[in-house]
Amino acid sequence: MGFREKKGFFGRLSERIGDVIMGRAAIDEELFDELEEVLITSDIGMQTTLSIIDTLRDRVKNEYITEPEKVKEKLKEIMIQAVDKGDRQKMSETYPLVIMMIGINGGGKTTTIGKLAAMYKKQGKSVLLAAADTFRAAAAEQLTIWADRVGVGIIKHGEGADPSAVLFDAAQAAKARGVDVLICDTAGRLQNKKNLMDELKKMNRVLGKEFPEADRETLLILDATTGKNAVSQAKEFGDAAELTGVALTKLDGTAKGGIAVTIADEFDLPIKFVGVGEGIDDLEVFDPEAFIGGIFD
Ligand code: GDP
Repeated sequence: MGFREKKGFFGRLSERIGDVIMGRAAIDEELFDELEEVLITSDIGMQTTLSIIDTLRDRVKNEYITEPEKVKEKLKEIMIQAVDKGDRQKMSETYPLVIMMIGINGGGKTTTIGKLAAMYKKQGKSVLLAAADTFRAAAAEQLTIWADRVGVGIIKHGEGADPSAVLFDAAQAAKARGVDVLICDTAGRLQNKKNLMDELKKMNRVLGKEFPEADRETLLILDATTGKNAVSQAKEFGDAAELTGVALTKLDGTAKGGIAVTIADEFDLPIKFVGVGEGIDDLEVFDPEAFIGGIFD
C-alpha cells in the first residue's frame, strides 16, 4: 500500500513492539505489561488495548505458546481481528449508491468527497455531487472546484438554503441522468446534537423517499492527527447518525495510525478509506491486513 512509503506512521510502533519481543527468553507477565504500554502510548486507546492484551494472554495460554516471537504473530492476528469488520468493510457495490459524508469542518470532508468521486469515476461510474453543506459560505464553492477538477456534476443552492432541498434536487438530477453514485456533502455542525440529528434525519427521509431501493452509505470523516478528538467525534456523530464507516484523513502527516484500531474496535465501525495527502489520488481503500501488517513487517 502506498501510504507506507508516504510516511511511516506505524514505524515507531513496529520498532517498539520489536524491542519488547526481541531477545526475550520467556513469556512472562512483564512481556504483556510492556506490550500494553507500547499500545497505549501509540494512540490505541486504553479500552482497546486492554481487550487486545487480554485476548493475547488467553490465546497464548490456550494455544500453549512458549516462544516470544510467536506472541508477535498472535498480537498481529488479534489486531487484524479488532479492525476487520468482515462484510461491512467494503463499500456497497450495488448501484445507484447514495453516500452521505459527515464530519466537522477542517477534517478533510471536501477533499475526501473529491478523491472519492475521482476513485468512482476511474472505475467507470458516473458521479454526481450534492452540495448540501449550505451553512458554510465557501463550502459549495470549494466542492465545485473539486467537481470541476474531477470532471463530475454538482448540484448546489445558495448559502443558507435548506440542505434537504439541495438533496431533493440532486436526487432528481441523479435519477434523470442515471447516475451511479450520488455523494452528498453535509454541514459539519456538532454544537447542537439535536439539530444535527434532526437535520440528518430530514436528509435521510428525502433520500429514502427519492431512492427507496438504493443502497446507502454514511461515512464519517475523521482527521487522524486530532487523536482523542477524533475518538470523541466518532462517539458524537455515531449517536446522531447511522454510520456505515469512516474515512480517516491525514494519515500521511501523523504517527497516530493507532487511532484506526481504536475507532474500529471501540465503535465497531469499519474504516473504509484512508487519506494520505492533499492530491486527487491520495485516497486508499483501507485493507485491515495490510494496515496492521505494516506494523509488524
Ligand atoms: P473540510 O472542511 O472538512 O471540508 O476539509 P477540507 O477538505 O477543506 O480539508 C482541510 C485541509 O486538510 C485542506 O488543506 C486539505 O488539503 C487537507 N487535507 C484533507 N485530507 C488530507 C489528507 O489526507 N492528507 C493531508 N496531508 N491533508 C489533507
